Amino acid sequence: MLKKNVIKLIVLITTFISVNSFAQSDNTSTTKKIAAEERARYDAMHTMQVLSLASPNFQVTYYRCNWNIDPAVRYISGSVTSYFKMTASTNNIVYDFTTALTVDSVVYRKRQAGFSQLANQTIQINFPSAINRNKLDSVSIYYHGVPPTSGDFTGGFSQTTHNNTPVIWTLSEPYGASGWWPCRNGLDDKADSIDIYITYPSQYKASSNGVNVYTIANSNTLTSYYKHRYPIASYLVAIAVTNYTVFTNTANINGKSMPVIQYAYPEDLSSFQSATPVVLNALQVYSSFFGDYPFVKERYGQTEFSWGGGMEHQTNSYIVSTGTNLITHEMGHQWFGDKVTCGSWQDIWLNEGFAEWLGDMFYPEKTGDSATMKSNVRSDLSFVVSSSGGSVWVNDTTSSDRIFDTRLTYDKGAFLVRMLRFTLGDSLFFKGINQYLTDPKLAYGFARTADLQRNLQNASGQNLNYFFNQWFYGEGYPSFTVNWKDSSDHKLYFTISQTTSKSSSVKFFKAPLPIRLINAAGTQSADIVLQCIRNNQSFVVNEPGFAVDVVSVDPDKFIISKNNKTVKQASALAAITTAKISVSPNPVTNTANVMLENFKGKVLLQLFNNNASLVWSKQINAQQTTQVQIPFSSFINGTYNLLATNEKGIKQTTTIVK
Ligand SMILES: [Zn+2]
Repeated sequence: MLKKNVIKLIVLITTFISVNSFAQSDNTSTTKKIAAEERARYDAMHTMQVLSLASPNFQVTYYRCNWNIDPAVRYISGSVTSYFKMTASTNNIVYDFTTALTVDSVVYRKRQAGFSQLANQTIQINFPSAINRNKLDSVSIYYHGVPPTSGDFTGGFSQTTHNNTPVIWTLSEPYGASGWWPCRNGLDDKADSIDIYITYPSQYKASSNGVNVYTIANSNTLTSYYKHRYPIASYLVAIAVTNYTVFTNTANINGKSMPVIQYAYPEDLSSFQSATPVVLNALQVYSSFFGDYPFVKERYGQTEFSWGGGMEHQTNSYIVSTGTNLITHEMGHQWFGDKVTCGSWQDIWLNEGFAEWLGDMFYPEKTGDSATMKSNVRSDLSFVVSSSGGSVWVNDTTSSDRIFDTRLTYDKGAFLVRMLRFTLGDSLFFKGINQYLTDPKLAYGFARTADLQRNLQNASGQNLNYFFNQWFYGEGYPSFTVNWKDSSDHKLYFTISQTTSKSSSVKFFKAPLPIRLINAAGTQSADIVLQCIRNNQSFVVNEPGFAVDVVSVDPDKFIISKNNKTVKQASALAAITTAKISVSPNPVTNTANVMLENFKGKVLLQLFNNNASLVWSKQINAQQTTQVQIPFSSFINGTYNLLATNEKGIKQTTTIVK
């Protein structure tokens, strides 16, 4: 989901002072508005349950829902029939369901069954005898009432007006579904399919998941039948009823035609119509990168509602307006969130980080709007590093603020995706992401972060433990200091050091660091990428064909960092400051292991005692790093000086104690 209408005022004021907000498009401002308002909605939900309280002794395979809705009246009546499979032999099952709604009856095998609505917002259904494990069965719950508006159920079932016309819509993420229909309301069970029948006054139209197979007229009402034959999580089921104007386009999904059905308020029809090219283009772009739109046998659509943002209801995104960022974010969720759904609220970034990345960066990038993309990336990064800590991993799923934290879940989550793409390169990254989306354990089911890591590792052959430890579980960001100099041999010498904003969490961020070289006339090199694997690491690279005047660290912001510095050192000292000697152990008893770094070519090693007498020497052919052993067993105790001299007369000394 994406919250649109509230500006993150504090953030904009404190961290984007230098950004010309007025020049930013709706896309960028949308990106920056998400969380505060999403949080506002969830602030009311501090008591929300962490997990489904439905009993673990069954799994739902199918729902058939019959709902009566009049948008002028905040009220629902109807029934939900669920097919289920027992996972243990027992004579009762428990669904999530609010006690605010009245259950009229429960029907099991054409007879009334006993039930009780429990204070923990569940309903227990008592069967006349135990149902055996693995048995498929079904039960119907008939109910009516005014859906609740507080706690877990805030905003789940909303009634208001637009242009003086009443509208009812639902938005159930994360725990709202059982506030208006009985279901298993967790991140562990998708029904294989669902049928939805909505009956409503005949001046309106109804919008829901899947294919609108028919709409038939009753005496004063209409009944619309929506059929959906893909697995679906309960929080992605939605209905909306008002005086919609409906129009249909046709998308081409990798050669397959698919209807795209839009439900717009009449007063906003032209805006929805003019957004058509964006919708059709984004469907094609995403399908080309992540495989066919996941519900291609049915349709995609958008439905206007009056909540301040968007929600990725399966096959049918609900949106408040037609900004490109909102459209592409919610559409991206159809792959990341709907087809593969986060398996725990700890991993909500698998939904929101990816959708944010797609909405912010991917689509503008593919359509050539790189200015918008770069602007979005810079403001995302500014926000991510506006605080020194915090992990993308949700460390407290009882806190709604924490789950839907814009900085961490949306913006830093999106940056994790960006960094994974940069780290792995496009080929391996997209290979891994597509394996993730088609993994039989995950596709149309649920995934944890470890499942994403496993697929990226399998595709790339790289161990990504470090990446997820430092960026997903870990907190904070690095600050790089790049010491550099040129030299008469047309090489550039770098030593890169790093501090971290929260060293108690991550002491060092292993990362590929892009460096751009610029001359006095402004000519720029292609970025070179230095693989930073330890602190104070030295690198030598060839000059780009011009004398370098300025070194720019990660100019296009591929890696989360802040307060990076470059320090140019005098050229004549180049080799001396990058050439290093280290000795271990020191003091030494028998053998000193000498490590030479950045001495290229012939090097003369000379060891002098404290009378300045030469006691040992050796000439070596040094590589980038070279290890040499000096036998000390025959030397008397004392202090020795080791001198290393290369062909250019560059010297380094160090002291060794025996
Ligand atoms: Zn979202």
